[in-house]
Amino acid sequence: MKKRFIPIFTILFSLLFFTVAFAETLQIYFLDVGQGDSSLIIASTGEVVLIDSGQDENIILTHLKKIGINHIDLLIASHPHADHISGMDKIVDIYKPRAFMDPEIPHTTTSYENLLLALKENNTKYYQATARQIKLGPLLFTVLPPADPLIEESSLNNNSAVIRLDYGDVSFLFTGDIEKERENQLIQVAKDKLNIDVLKVPHHGSSTGTTIAFLQATTPDVGVIFCGKGNNYGYPHEETLEALQSFGVQVYRTDVNGTILVETDGKTYRVIPERGEEYRELPALKQIETPTPTPAPTVSPAPTPATEEPTVTYKYIASKGSDVFHHISCSHAQRIKPENKIYFSTREEAIASGRKPCKVCKP
Ligand SMILES: [Zn+2]
Ligand SMILES: [Zn+2]
Repeated sequence: MKKRFIPIFTILFSLLFFTVAFAETLQIYFLDVGQGDSSLIIASTGEVVLIDSGQDENIILTHLKKIGINHIDLLIASHPHADHISGMDKIVDIYKPRAFMDPEIPHTTTSYENLLLALKENNTKYYQATARQIKLGPLLFTVLPPADPLIEESSLNNNSAVIRLDYGDVSFLFTGDIEKERENQLIQVAKDKLNIDVLKVPHHGSSTGTTIAFLQATTPDVGVIFCGKGNNYGYPHEETLEALQSFGVQVYRTDVNGTILVETDGKTYRVIPERGEEYRELPALKQIETPTPTPAPTVSPAPTPATEEPTVTYKYIASKGSDVFHHISCSHAQRIKPENKIYFSTREEAIASGRKPCKVCKP
């Protein structure tokens, strides 16, 4: 008689094992990269997305190796400041992302120029971070609308790509280094997409952002602050911590907690910091207020080609009223108003438009 129980038990165990082993999950690593941002998103179905790469090439490459990353599907730079894009050229060379996205704001630093070069050499598909949705396996990214015209105040920070990620009922907001001006713009134009569970606190917890109005709109349960131990800026600022506390947000910081892992099955999630106390099993609460999805251009990074958006990395730029063209990273190009920008993908095209090369950048 006893024998009959063994196969039943075996079957039950196998079923249980099967369910556990094959339940789809998502892991987001808020990587401790010192004074900088880097969020690594890994779906159990194999999709890998990296938003920002911190301020030190060796640190990010070590993290990626240690976690065992062997490919990246989508690479995103929130904005081209050095504490967000260091080593990205190497990441492009090594992990061959299928697509890259950034706000496409000209910036003349060696690290950004090297990144653009690596993207070109690897034929990486380029997307500008305009309002759009990107579906990648079970991941749904919504790029929130950029300010139009771009914000002049603290321009690179404020015009960071702001991206919402939905995985089942659990949602995240990646905010780059935005400050209060952009937060206000988002509240005006995208309020219905701001309500999330986990907030990447803007700009390393600087008091330039994370306003009360922004916290009212985002209502996060968990806030993650990227900042380096003893950083020169005093991040995170006391005002920001107080604001987060007043909203009952459970705060994790990379300087205190190290790398912070959030794991979710799409219904509940838990936070597992490298150091400090684990925050267990939080239910997703926001689905009630999640708006019904509006038909937006659904853009898979690959192989589906982008719809109306540029798929080439433009190398040259000119102003409508000018007879000179520039390399896209030229300092003069940065002064061109968005509404006057004309792009060229080749030098020939720029010359064919009747324009002469700029004497500063000599394109
Ligand atoms: Zn930054
Ligand atoms: Zn910045």
